[in-house]
Amino acid sequence: MPILRDFFIKLSENQLLNSAAQRYGFKLGAQSVVAGTNIPEVIESMKELNRQGISCTVDNLGEFVYERSEAIKAKEQILEVIEAIHENGVEGHISVKPSQLGLDIDYDFCYENLMEIVGKAHEYNMHVNFDQETYARLQPTFDLMEKISETYDNVGSVIQSYFFNAKENVEKYKNFRLRIVKGAYKEPADVAYQDKQDIDLNFIEIIEYHLLHGKFTSIATHDHNVINHVKQFVKDNNISKDKFEFQMLYGFRKDMQLDLAKEGYNFCTYVPFGSDWYGYFMRRLAERPQNINLVTKQVFNK
Ligand code: FAD
Repeated sequence: MPILRDFFIKLSENQLLNSAAQRYGFKLGAQSVVAGTNIPEVIESMKELNRQGISCTVDNLGEFVYERSEAIKAKEQILEVIEAIHENGVEGHISVKPSQLGLDIDYDFCYENLMEIVGKAHEYNMHVNFDQETYARLQPTFDLMEKISETYDNVGSVIQSYFFNAKENVEKYKNFRLRIVKGAYKEPADVAYQDKQDIDLNFIEIIEYHLLHGKFTSIATHDHNVINHVKQFVKDNNISKDKFEFQMLYGFRKDMQLDLAKEGYNFCTYVPFGSDWYGYFMRRLAERPQNINLVTKQVFNK
C-alpha cells in the first residue's frame, strides 16, 4: 500500500494534471467527495447536512497558487462563501489553506488576506480554521494563527499527529480550538513518523491531551477504532459533549457520520467545493486506495 500512497501523493502534486483536470471538468468520480463547483451548490449540500443534525466546515478548493492575483481571487471567493453562509442561515464555518491565500508568495501578503477573511467571519460569529499543509508551512501557519488571534478570537488550526513535534505543538497551542488529524502529506523520516502504528499512538495521545487541557477539540478521522476510544475516554473522564466534535470528510462513511450525530455527538462534515478539486481528490486516494471504488462506481453507474 505505501507504493500506491506515494503514487497518488505524486499525482496530487502534479500541476499539469491539475490544470488538465480543471479544464476537462468535474470528472473522475470526484463528485461523490466534492460538494459542488459553485456557492449555490455547496449551500444546498450544507442545508441537506444541517437537516440531518450535522454542521459543516467549508473549504473553497485551491492549490498551486503562485500569483498574487490568484490569491486575491481565492480570498474574494472565500469572502463570498462567508456571506452566503450567513445570508442562508446555514450552520457552518470556514476552513482555509494559507498557501491558497499567498503563504508561498509572501508572509505579510498572506497575513493581510487572512485578516480580511477572519475579520469578515468575526462579524458573523463564525470560526475560521487554518488547515495545515506540508511541514515547510507548519510553523508559518501557527504563527499566522497566533498573530491574528491578537485581534480576533475566532481562529484555530490543525495538529498533524505524524509530526514528531505534534505533542509540543498541542501543548503550546492548547488554548486554541484545534482539529487533530493523522496527517495527509508525504513527509520525510527526519520530521515525521512513517509507521502507521506510531502515528495512531501519537494521534490518541494528542487527542486525549487536548480533550483534557485544551479549548474545543475537533477529532477529525474516519477511523472507527479511534472514534470508539474517544467515546470511552470522554465518558471515563466526564468530558461533556460540548467540549468536542467529530469531523469527517464529505462523502466518506456517511452512515457513521449520521449515527454519530444521532447519538448526540457534535458532528461536523468537512465540505470541499470548487473546480480545483484535483489535488484534494488525489490525496484521498493516497490515504485509502480502496476509495478508487468511489471512482469506479461513479464511472459505471452512469
Ligand atoms: P485512516 O488511517 O485513513 O484509516 C483508519 C482505518 O479506518 C482504516 O484502516 C479503515 O479500517 C477505516 N476507514 C478509513 N476510511 C474509511 C472509509 N472511507 N470507509 C470505511 N472504512 C474506513 N490532513 C492534513 O494534513 N491537514 C488538514 O488540515 C486535514 N484536515 C482534515 C479534516 C478532516 C475533517 C478530516 C477527516 C481529515 C483531515 N486531514 C487533514 C486528513 C487526515 O490527516 C488523514 O489523512 C485522513 O483523515 C485519513 O486518516 P484517518 O484518520 O481518517 O484514518
